[in-house]
Amino acid sequence: MSDVSDRIKANLVTLRERISAAARRSDRSPEEITLVVVTKYVGPEIIQILFQHGCNEIGESRPQELWRKFEQCRDLPIRWHLVGPLQRNKAQRTVPLVSLIHSVESRLLLETLDRCGQKLGHVVPVLLEVNISGESAKHGFPPEEIPKVVDQLDRFPRVEVRGLMGISGLNITVAEIRRQFATLRELRDRLVSSGLVGPRFTELSMGMSGDFEVAIEEGATIIRVGSALFEGIETG
Ligand SMILES: *Cc1c(COP(=O)(O)O)cnc(C)c1O
Repeated sequence: MSDVSDRIKANLVTLRERISAAARRSDRSPEEITLVVVTKYVGPEIIQILFQHGCNEIGESRPQELWRKFEQCRDLPIRWHLVGPLQRNKAQRTVPLVSLIHSVESRLLLETLDRCGQKLGHVVPVLLEVNISGESAKHGFPPEEIPKVVDQLDRFPRVEVRGLMGISGLNITVAEIRRQFATLRELRDRLVSSGLVGPRFTELSMGMSGDFEVAIEEGATIIRVGSALFEGIETG
C-alpha cells in the first residue's frame, strides 16, 4: 500500500502544479479552484490515502456507489459530491450524505430535492447541469432553458442553486472545448448581471482529467478529476 500511497502523492503534486500553472496563466489564484477527486474507479482504501494527502472533497458519479463509499469512509470528514445523474427515487437517501449535487437536470428533480430539503429542515445545495456540447447522449438542460429554470427557482425554496456544471464534448478540438466552457461562464455571468440569481450563484463546475486546464483558464471554480490521479495504479 505504501507504493500506492507514494504514487498518489506524486500524482497529486503534479496535478496541483498543473492547477497552479493554469490559474497563473489566467491571472487567478489556485485557491479559487476546488479540486473534487472523482473516485468511481477506486475503492475506499484509496479514498483513505487521498484524504491523508489532503483531498477531502470526493465525487462519485453513481448514487448507490456514493452510499456504499460513504459508509465505508464514515470516520473521515469528507465532503461528498454527486457528479452523475440522480434518479428521483434515490434522492431521499442521497441528499443527507452530500455537500453538493452537481447534476440537476430537470424541474421534477428540483421538486423532489425541494421536498427532501423540507423533510430534512435544511436547504439542498445544487448546481444546474447544462448540456454545453449539444450532444444528445449528454445530460443537462439546454443552455437556452437555463434562464427560464432560474426564473422559477422560487418554487423550490429548499433548493439552493450555487451555479452551473458542464461536460465538454467528445473528440473535439481544444478550441471547441474552450468555447463550450466559455459558454457556461458567459451564461453564469449573464444570470448574475441580470439579477435573476443571488450572490451565492457563483460556481462553475467544469473540467476533468483531459481538459481541466482549459476549464480553469475559462473560469472553473470546481474541477472534477479522476483518472489523472490514478495513473500507475491498479484500479481493478
Ligand atoms: C468520471 C467523471 C469525472 C472524472 O473524469 P476523469 O476523466 O477520470 O478525470 C468527472 N465528472 C464526471 C461527471 C464523471 O462522471
